[in-house]
Amino acid sequence: HVRTAFIGLGAMGYPMAGHLAKKYETLVWNRTFAKAEAHAKEFGSRAVELPEVASADILLTCLPTSLEVDELAQKLLPYLRPGMLWIDHTSGEPELAKKTAHMLKEKGVSYLDACLSGGVAGALQARATVMAGGSLQDFARAKPVMEAYATKIVHVGPLGSGHAVKAVNNALLAVNLWALSEGMVALVKQGVDAGLALEVINASSGRSNVSENLFGQRVISRQFPNTFALGLLAKDTGICVKVLEAAGTPAPLLRQVREFFEIAKREVGAAEVDHTAVARLLERWSGVEIK
Ligand code: NDP
Repeated sequence: HVRTAFIGLGAMGYPMAGHLAKKYETLVWNRTFAKAEAHAKEFGSRAVELPEVASADILLTCLPTSLEVDELAQKLLPYLRPGMLWIDHTSGEPELAKKTAHMLKEKGVSYLDACLSGGVAGALQARATVMAGGSLQDFARAKPVMEAYATKIVHVGPLGSGHAVKAVNNALLAVNLWALSEGMVALVKQGVDAGLALEVINASSGRSNVSENLFGQRVISRQFPNTFALGLLAKDTGICVKVLEAAGTPAPLLRQVREFFEIAKREVGAAEVDHTAVARLLERWSGVEIK
């Protein structure tokens, strides 16, 4: 019998903890506690006060940044028990995560940085991807639990590697999103039908997840559903810059994309909108609509 506890019932955490509750005893805690109560009703998890999450064998978090994770780890420290495993699904920072892991280790608690991809759709369908950093032993213990909501689960290296791989992945998403937005407004401005341009790009070498999925479903549809906040993607481009700095390798393009997303956040005026708001920004700057 394994008891789990999930902290952070946001866009990703809520459905993931729901799948978890179908397979394992699951305690839930959320800052806005009503969400934990709603979760308990919907999935048969149990909403508990924060200290009680420490009664779990495996504790999972999915919070905005490593800062919130570290803050929680400090709060929970007096309650944590040796032998616990902390699986952190936050897209966080390698260096801060290592500090948090070190603090937890002193209490005998293991930590894995286990970033997610696949978006809210992946979380809802229990088909998320996980890239994990940490010891192989902890990974082996965590894997069956993560199989409740993930289909591709890969150990990518030592502590911090999960966060690092995720940051590079998301910087690539940011590059593709920005670049396709630039290209599409230029094409539309010159009379090309956006749908036809996408159809051809998607059968050609310039295609990406942005062109194959995001643009059709969110931009051309004019729906812009808010599932992944612009502010979170901007945060990820910043983490990527830290990863590049730590490596000391040349990266003029990936460094630049962080500046673009900081500008986008300011120009759009709200970090909470969906990340595809970048396309809207390019539309505004160009005076055309991508359609
Ligand atoms: P949301 O903003 O939807 O949810 C954030 C969660 O964190 C909420 O439960 C929120 O509680 C909680 N929270 C925020 N601040 C604090 C705090 N100070 N103390 C305690 N709890 C806090 O984010 P997502 O679910 O979209 O993203 C979570 C993580 O997953 C991020 O790191 C993101 O980059 C990553 N991610 C997101 C993906 C997506 O498509 N959305 C895909 C892959 C990774 P409350 O309900 O009270 O606000």
